Amino acid sequence: MNDTIENIISLINSNKYFIITTHVNPDGDAIGSELALSRHLTLLDKNVKIINHSPTPDYLRFMLNSDDNILEFNEEEHSSLIENADVIFTLDLSQLSRTKSLENYIRKSNAIKICIDHHPFPEDYAELSLIDTLSSSTGELIYRLLKQSQTELNLGIALPLYVAIMTDTGSFKYERTTANLHRIIAELLDAGVIPIKVHQEIYDQGSANRIQLLGRAFNSLTITGDGRLAYMKISLNDLKETNSKEEDVEGFVSYTLSIKGVEVGLFFFELENGFKISLRSATKVPVNKLAAEFNGGGHFFAAGARLENKNMEDTIPKVIETAIKYLQQYLV
Ligand code: 5GP
Ligand code: MN
Repeated sequence: MNDTIENIISLINSNKYFIITTHVNPDGDAIGSELALSRHLTLLDKNVKIINHSPTPDYLRFMLNSDDNILEFNEEEHSSLIENADVIFTLDLSQLSRTKSLENYIRKSNAIKICIDHHPFPEDYAELSLIDTLSSSTGELIYRLLKQSQTELNLGIALPLYVAIMTDTGSFKYERTTANLHRIIAELLDAGVIPIKVHQEIYDQGSANRIQLLGRAFNSLTITGDGRLAYMKISLNDLKETNSKEEDVEGFVSYTLSIKGVEVGLFFFELENGFKISLRSATKVPVNKLAAEFNGGGHFFAAGARLENKNMEDTIPKVIETAIKYLQQYLV
């Protein structure tokens, strides 16, 4: 691990043009990790651009400064940047296909690819990979990189790292929340992060429409599999009628696990060209394996899949049937 970080540090020192990217529909870990790394590189006088497939969700925009360069990928303007970069960092993704429109350009680029991630079963596409599945978040790995680089943790770096770790640990409650992680958090607070402010920015600035949408999700709640499987769904129509946005469903799936006895919770979300499933497990069922049955992936307790060109209503029964098989297999 330390050696890999050492190699990354020398590649940073010996190159000039950097691209940073992350997965489609970026979350707090994705954007927070990108910002912390890009601000570090900028301090080192590097030329750095963050290029993502998706726009930055509104609830994460409070972290941005006017000089942060987050671009939404478009082929005409940005493909040559990817082609001519020295180094491309891919953060918080285990399969390059999760960069969506950037994937082919990254594959073709001669740039050195560096993957920093904490997901299991990574695709082997990078020249250098800093992967630790025991890490709470990609942000924690960026923290380790910056520590080993002896970077001073100013607030501009500490804040996005805090957001990355907070959002990926469910506000410091998931299993990777260790004493050591809290020591890292203590350092971030020493650098000036104010937890209540961050919490309010992320969780208390939603729209009323989002709550209407949550109501629709609650209305759809179905419990099956002897009370061990709960699922909810949101259709494109729900989204339209409540005037909500795609990013508004963030966090909905977690309510499924708040029900006593539920071991696996699913959330189905209709997209223009298919649908998305969010999967959560309470204790024993590896939902990343369940997600993999539908070409998705993720962590043991939290996973996802995107099913393109599939009708949500027609496919739900198949997903439920497979989920129940998993419950029977793993809950013995
Ligand atoms: P969420 O349900 O919050 O969107 O995603 C939970 C976790 O599942 C993410 O942290 C990510 O690891 C994984 N994940 C979500 N969607 C996909 C997907 O389409 N493909 C893969 N491989 N993993 C996903
Ligand atoms: Mn993550």
